[in-house]
Amino acid sequence: DGEIEFDNVNFTYEGRQPALRGVSFRVPKGGSVALVGESGAGKSTILRLLYRFYDLKEGEGRILVDGQDIRDVTQASLRKAIGVVPQDAVLFNASIAYNIGYGKLGASQDEVEEAAKAAQMHDRIITFPENYDTKVGERGIRLSGGEKQRVAIARTLLKNPPILLLDEATSALDTSTERDIQKALQNLVRGRSSLSIAHRLSTIANADLILVLKDGQIIEQGNHKQLLELN
Ligand code: ADP
Ligand code: ADP
Repeated sequence: DGEIEFDNVNFTYEGRQPALRGVSFRVPKGGSVALVGESGAGKSTILRLLYRFYDLKEGEGRILVDGQDIRDVTQASLRKAIGVVPQDAVLFNASIAYNIGYGKLGASQDEVEEAAKAAQMHDRIITFPENYDTKVGERGIRLSGGEKQRVAIARTLLKNPPILLLDEATSALDTSTERDIQKALQNLVRGRSSLSIAHRLSTIANADLILVLKDGQIIEQGNHKQLLELN
C-alpha cells in the first residue's frame, strides 16, 4: 500500500495563473520522489492536492492512491494513510512525550520512547524518564527548528502511515543537527512511499526519482545520476 499516481494534473488557484500544468508521475509502493524547483514552481501545491486541501475538478486530471481516485475515499481515511512532516512543526504547549504520543492515541511509554530514539532524540531533547513531563514552549524548554522537526518525525513514526509528505527545512542547520535529522529521516522514510520538497542534498541523492518543476510543469526527471549526466 502507498502507491501514488498523478495523472495529467492541472490546477489553478482562483484568479491566478495555472499552478500545475500536465503533471504526471508515479511513486511506487515504498518509493521516494524528491520535488525540486524554485519558489513558486508548484511543489507545495502537489503535496496539498495529495492531502486534499484542494480537490481537482472534472477535467483537471486525477490523483490515485493504490489505484483509487482520492476523491472517492473519505478525507479522514486518506489522511490516516498519510504522514506529514512540515517545514516548521507546530508543537503543543505540553510535554515532549505528549507531542510525540499525539501520533497514536493510546501509545505506551515504550512506544513513545522507541519513536523518540528512532528520531534521534537521544540528547538533550528528552531524558528518560525524569524530564518526561518537561513542557515545550514558553515556560518549558525551547527547541531549535531541527529539534522540533525531530519531534514531528517521532510523532509520524508512531502514526506509522504508508505515505509521507515531507517539507524539508530551508534554514541552515549545524552539522551535528543535520546528521541527526538525516538519520531520523532515513528511519522514517524506510519502507514508506515518500514525496518530499527536498532541500537536503542527501534526500535528493537518495531519491528514486527527482522531479524538477518550473512554472507548474515537470521540466526534467530522473535519478541523481541521470540528472547529472543530463547537465
Ligand atoms: P512552491 O511550493 O514550489 O514554492 P507553490 O505550489 O506554493 O510553489 O506555488 C505555485 C504557484 O501557485 C505560485 O505561482 C504561487 O504563487 C501560487 N499559489 C500557491 N499557493 C497559493 C494560494 N494559496 N493562493 C493563490 N495562489 C497560490
Ligand atoms: P503562538 O503563536 O501561540 O505563540 P507559536 O506558533 O509560537 O504559538 O507556537 C505554537 C506552539 O508551539 C506553542 O504552544 C509553543 O509551545 C510551541 N513552540 C513554539 N516555538 C517553540 C520552540 N522554539 N520550542 C518549543 N516549543 C515551541
